[in-house]
Amino acid sequence: MYMITIKNLSFNYRQKEIFNNLDLTVPDGKITSIIGPNGSGKSTLVKILVGLYKYNGEIKINEIPLLKDNRKEIRKIIGVVFTNPENQFVAETVMDDIAFTLENMNFKKDIIRKKIEEISKYLGIYDILECNPHDLNSNQKQLVSLASALVHDPKILILDEALTMLDPYDKEKILKILKELNSKGLTILNITNDIEDTLISDEIYVLSEGKIVLNGANEEVYKEEDKLHKLGFELPFMVELSNRLMFYDLIDHVIYDMEEMVDILWK
Ligand code: ADP
Ligand code: MG
Repeated sequence: MYMITIKNLSFNYRQKEIFNNLDLTVPDGKITSIIGPNGSGKSTLVKILVGLYKYNGEIKINEIPLLKDNRKEIRKIIGVVFTNPENQFVAETVMDDIAFTLENMNFKKDIIRKKIEEISKYLGIYDILECNPHDLNSNQKQLVSLASALVHDPKILILDEALTMLDPYDKEKILKILKELNSKGLTILNITNDIEDTLISDEIYVLSEGKIVLNGANEEVYKEEDKLHKLGFELPFMVELSNRLMFYDLIDHVIYDMEEMVDILWK
């Protein structure tokens, strides 16, 4: 089953065509990545998916047609995190900020409290609920955005270059959390311009100027080194490293996880 089905999507900003008959699906329970250079249409797609723009074509989210009348229902199913969390903060405290989504969805006060406690403990931000979100460091800010996106238990989490501002260590931590959430059933659409962020996905779409130029399971997409190069992407570090070690017969398959790699090489 598909959490998102996009068929024949066409969209223009005034004279500028962004999509012309785009087809794309996001399977249920998987992590799907869309990678594309700046200006390829990634954020436009996200804005269409959250119901901000009118479009031509057919989009269904969790089988519900993405139409004006269904927008409220669809927003309950989706959580979104953008690149710059600052733009998403609406309140003076982290607590109120996370509560905002739930209040808009008319959850009761005690349920709101319970849900915020749960998600903030899970993401390790329970101790900063009384802080002003603008005073936090970039990792904490992104965790607050993630909490706001997840607090209403969406079926799908959409990330629009949400990891870009993080340092490698914090990024690694958040990628682990995403993997874990996915293993509990959350569908993730991970949109990025950094190929390293695609390692956690099951399937990758490569977008260029509004068109899908490559699509497949990770391994398949990483085999298309030339096509990726033409779009300005190197292979992810672990894939590059694996390819070289395979050349010397030191390993026999691509290894995405550094700890696993170290284990195997030490044996
Ligand atoms: P990405 O997120 O992949 O960087 P965007 O979806 O933001 O790409 O932008 C795709 C193209 O549409 C770019 O050429 C951008 O300049 C243009 N664009 C984005 N937003 C608008 C807008 N509101 N009005 C006109 N053109 C826009
Ligand atoms: Mg963008």
